[in-house]
Amino acid sequence: MTQPHHERIAVVGAGTMGNGIAQTFASYGTEVQLVDVDEAALQRGVAAVEKSLARFVKKEKLTQAEAAGILGRIKPSTKLEDVGAAPLVIEAIVERADVKRKVFEALDRVTPAETILATNTSSISITEIGAATKRADRVIGMHFMNPVPLMTLVEVIRGQETSDETTRRVFECSESIGKTPVEANDYPGFVSNRVLMPMINEAVFCLMEGVAEKEAIDTVMKLGMNHPMGPLTLADLIGLDVCLDIMEVLHTGLGDSKYRPCPLLRRMVAAGRLGRKAGKGFYDYN
Ligand code: NAD
Repeated sequence: MTQPHHERIAVVGAGTMGNGIAQTFASYGTEVQLVDVDEAALQRGVAAVEKSLARFVKKEKLTQAEAAGILGRIKPSTKLEDVGAAPLVIEAIVERADVKRKVFEALDRVTPAETILATNTSSISITEIGAATKRADRVIGMHFMNPVPLMTLVEVIRGQETSDETTRRVFECSESIGKTPVEANDYPGFVSNRVLMPMINEAVFCLMEGVAEKEAIDTVMKLGMNHPMGPLTLADLIGLDVCLDIMEVLHTGLGDSKYRPCPLLRRMVAAGRLGRKAGKGFYDYN
């Protein structure tokens, strides 16, 4: 194996994204301190990595020994101070601005001043998160896609104060784990959700207005535009509550009525039809 870019990094939050980020860095030889406030969530995170690695072994993309090595490089902890002297910390906790600000305030205290603090947020302002620290020039967005070990994009988002040097280092680091970094500026939804979510929202409008049945809408986008899945299927996968939250961020942040969430999207969320995770959304999964 080639020399890893960083010998050590830290990931805060061991959920879907955090454990995927940890697995990816560990696969490239980096030791990862994985921190979560919740012991059970931490254990679930490590178990998810084990399960994912087992799939790579089954497909003969990894040997048992390599998988064991990767898992061994992930060091779980429930204490934020354990992020220690890692030159890069990537936060992947719940999508709540108040909670993220608190965690960044704490990270600012417990890490050396030169450490880069990155956030995997999908929609919260990088500038706002950076302002919770005394090092806004070293705060940046590293927006990975789910599932992290398979998806090659990292949307790198520069806050108002993020420096060129921080951006350069995050680009290098992303490339060192086989990803393609793309630079974006800090405006609501960045590029990914600014383009994706209005498309999903428009698909929901099409359904609400009776333009076509749900299967027809998805088929048009799959076969006609070569999307791997239709927008309503994708919305179910992402979670309709998450889609609604991001539409609200776009609507509030950009102030344009073209971003208003579709009333049917609101109604689905109110009914608890949150998508795959709830067993039902636009489609039924039971
Ligand atoms: P998740 O709910 O699966 O995991 C969040 C984890 O953070 C949980 O394990 C929770 O215990 C932990 N946590 C909560 N507060 C904490 C704290 N104060 N300190 C340490 N750990 C804490 O969430 P997720 O889907 O992995 O999303 C994480 C972030 O990534 C969010 O900002 C989300 O917007 C973003 N994101 C998610 C996706 C996706 O497809 N799921 C894609 C891109 C970006």
